[in-house]
Amino acid sequence: MQLAENLIAGRWTAPSSKETLPVMNPSRGEQIAAVPLSGAAEVDAAVKAAAEAFPGWASTPPSERVQVLYRLKAHLEAGFDEICLMVSREHGKTLSESRGDLRRGIEMIEFACSAPTLLMGDALQNIARGIDCHNDRVPLGVVAGICPFNFPAMVPLWMWPVAIACGNCFILKPSEKVPLTAVHIVKLLQKSGLPDGVLSIVHGGRAVVEALLAHPGIAAISFVGSTAVAKEIYRIGCANGKRVQSAGGAKNFVVVMPDADIEKTAQGLKDGAFGCAGERCMAASTAVIVGDASKTVLPALVETVAAMKVGPTDTAASQPDMGAVITAQHREHVAKMISTGTAHGAKVLTGGDLAQSSGAPNGYFVKPTILDGITYENPLATHEVFGPVLNVMRAATLDEAIRLANRQAYGNGACIFTSSGPAAREYRTRVGAGMVGINVGVPAPMAFFPFTGWNESFFGDLHIQGKEGVLFYTKQRTTTTRWFLPSEGDIWAR
Ligand code: NAD
Repeated sequence: MQLAENLIAGRWTAPSSKETLPVMNPSRGEQIAAVPLSGAAEVDAAVKAAAEAFPGWASTPPSERVQVLYRLKAHLEAGFDEICLMVSREHGKTLSESRGDLRRGIEMIEFACSAPTLLMGDALQNIARGIDCHNDRVPLGVVAGICPFNFPAMVPLWMWPVAIACGNCFILKPSEKVPLTAVHIVKLLQKSGLPDGVLSIVHGGRAVVEALLAHPGIAAISFVGSTAVAKEIYRIGCANGKRVQSAGGAKNFVVVMPDADIEKTAQGLKDGAFGCAGERCMAASTAVIVGDASKTVLPALVETVAAMKVGPTDTAASQPDMGAVITAQHREHVAKMISTGTAHGAKVLTGGDLAQSSGAPNGYFVKPTILDGITYENPLATHEVFGPVLNVMRAATLDEAIRLANRQAYGNGACIFTSSGPAAREYRTRVGAGMVGINVGVPAPMAFFPFTGWNESFFGDLHIQGKEGVLFYTKQRTTTTRWFLPSEGDIWAR
């Protein structure tokens, strides 16, 4: 059985503890690898190796540092299909979704390759007579990133390419559920010429996270995962004097106005809610159907979702519309949430049950489910399901729809489908979410912009991605310079 090894000081090693967790193929319910549960000793060894590598890496010119990333991009493009299959195999999402996962990650590498420009500072000559001032950005030192399971390629790539391009050394803790893609990409990074110690991987769960948070040698932590954990990471990381950016969960509302394009809205909502089996922090989780959209868009949506094929995604030969959820436990959790929803009065419009695939009887499949009649008395209105379940709420007006969307605690994403500019503008202005989509099912985070979640969806000041990522992984230095003129003679004559 393959063991996902740690990378410390440029060497792939197993931790001293023999404790492991299984890595499963959710399409088949079969173990495909094991991941070690490392602890404080492995974190400490990784920090020491990173601290040793830091002076040499930080003083390497940015234009040289990014050559490693250019070479990595070439390797990723050459192995693109193989890596996508790996993502589908350990995660369960379809191949086309895995292509999106890796493509968005490669865009982060392309963005990080602009480090020589992104790191430029400001200068002003003569802030006073004969005195100049300039400001530049320097790396923080050793920084760490803790990742969720749902984007095995993309989320780690949100973090470390920018961090190392800025001159930091990075310690990555991938999700213990999907460690294989991260390991594969970092092996390609080694092949691209990264010096030992600049990037380390320490696998495991809570014990590794606690050791990262406690270690005095780590200057900053990037976290992506559920809100309960994100809040704790932020609280403890800050209390320990670290810079922290911590992205949490979501409950994204999508408002459908009566003037929305019927087919495109149904398609957008289907993709938004059921893409990656709903395991996206930007998933559409509640559709607020305004007025007569219930007679146009809603029936079209139910029809298209009811026709979706669910099944295994781990071979290129046949691909379904939707794959499995991540684990057997999560499948049970999603099923339980659906029963909770119906026990509180929701009506199943389609799905509502576990799904079986004849070719893969042990896969963790759930039918794409639409539940109508959700109100705020129903726990489904406020709890993140993170599965293929779309709530339907009704509203008479846009104003009522916005008030419904703003009653929940998260603030990751919010979309509207409409052909009215003023309605879209009103929604964008008033809705309490940091990523707004207008006639798109998912306002997907893009490398060049920060991923601006709000409220219970983000804890920190500087978001992940875009120029804010560069600000997060660097500190500013402002230098004031005065050169004394000799008291006598012409200096230029010397
Ligand atoms: P999770 O919070 O269970 O795990 C995330 C990471 O934290 C993992 O590496 C895990 O090992 C670690 N962890 C888990 N429990 C911990 C604990 N008690 N103490 C310390 N560390 C712990 O999240 P997940 O199930 O892997 O991912 C799904 C969640 O991530 C969803 O809530 C989703 O909305 C969120 N997410 C958010 C974004 C975003 O950008 N806002 C992006 C992707 C996923």
